[in-house]
Amino acid sequence: MAVLSGEKMADSLSVLVLNSGSSSVKYKLFDMEDESVSASGLVERIGGAEGTARHRVRSEEGIRELDLRQSFTDHRQAFEHLFSVLGNPGLSAIGHRLVHGGERFQRPVLIDDEVVEAIRANIPLAPLHNPPNLLGIEIARELYSGIPQVAVFDTAFHQTLPEVAWRYAVPQGWYEKYRIRRYGFHGTSHAYVAREVSRCLGRSLETLNLITLHLGNGASITAIREGRSIDTSMGMTPLEGLMMGTRSGDLDPSIIFYLQRVWGMDGRQLEHVLNHESGLKGICGSNDMRAIHAAAEGGDSRARLAIDMFCYRLRKYIGAYLAVLGKVDALVFTGGIGENDARIRARVCDGLAFLDIRLDPDANAQVGPAGRPIHARGSEIAVYVIPTDEELEIARQTLSRLREVDSTG
Ligand code: ADP
Repeated sequence: MAVLSGEKMADSLSVLVLNSGSSSVKYKLFDMEDESVSASGLVERIGGAEGTARHRVRSEEGIRELDLRQSFTDHRQAFEHLFSVLGNPGLSAIGHRLVHGGERFQRPVLIDDEVVEAIRANIPLAPLHNPPNLLGIEIARELYSGIPQVAVFDTAFHQTLPEVAWRYAVPQGWYEKYRIRRYGFHGTSHAYVAREVSRCLGRSLETLNLITLHLGNGASITAIREGRSIDTSMGMTPLEGLMMGTRSGDLDPSIIFYLQRVWGMDGRQLEHVLNHESGLKGICGSNDMRAIHAAAEGGDSRARLAIDMFCYRLRKYIGAYLAVLGKVDALVFTGGIGENDARIRARVCDGLAFLDIRLDPDANAQVGPAGRPIHARGSEIAVYVIPTDEELEIARQTLSRLREVDSTG
């Protein structure tokens, strides 16, 4: 089946990336000839009385910005609105962001009925994220029938983890029956920055060992050997690992039993607190790192502790992944904190010269949008700041999947 027709290939290569969440839909439309963004936007508060929609659309007349307030009763209305704004952009493909692909999806797939059912079967693994992702697929398939659509999974990049890293030390039956295992997340972002740093270093990704740190509201760290993920800090769900904006990260599971048994809390309540009231917010009341720095500077000891804990846990993971990888070519910072927060980067790398990690303080302090090195001369391990672009990565993976399908017939 030729999914990218010769005509379209010659004409334009327009790829629409959709991220359909529980009450919002984000999109970016790429012209893949030069990977530029021809339109982007966001519909928010779907299902609420006061919805909003923002769009930025490039045309021959220039950039058109739309800022609308109107209610969107459901996802279908939001998508119909979005597609009416985009008009008919001559799409070559649509790429959908999917949070959880389970074990079934190790790479992007061309969506058909069978894939939709397999995604549905994974809903219990990500009950908050997969249903709205799937809804987006179903509506887009209906409204843009005939346009090839590809699902790109946040878990797929980590399907190369060796069993020793993805198993939990729990009874074998738990894995066999319930699929209790580590999956890892943020894969699209880790894959994107890994590819970008290989470009910066002028070396093929297959020759590189990397530690990538995605530090946003959610945070995860990945060990990459010869271009493939071999360990990552998030697990069965995005709750495991680093301290995050509102998620606890690693903790002793007995805390949960104790709170249930002695203090009468129930599972739902605990799940909510560990996901939404913990992490930086749990310690100091805020999950906005800029506000936390400001509070710490003003003498707020809880804000200081939150920063200390955030950096401490990161350093522990870096140490662990250095040991796992043996030799590391580069450490890569990305995500809202990783890209913008020079103080956190300095704290994380402080005193790691004995592990061959040395920052250049001036390079680290400079802010700039492009990927750049921040290590000192003579640092064995390069350190880079690479702004992530998950949408572009999804567009790239969508296109390369379609090209593969075309070349194999
Ligand atoms: P999400 O995971 O929601 O996509 P982001 O990647 O946007 O989150 O990261 C959000 C985090 O980045 C917040 O803690 C925010 O305070 C922090 N952040 C954004 N800009 C800066 C900045 N200039 N300095 C420090 N922290 C920043």
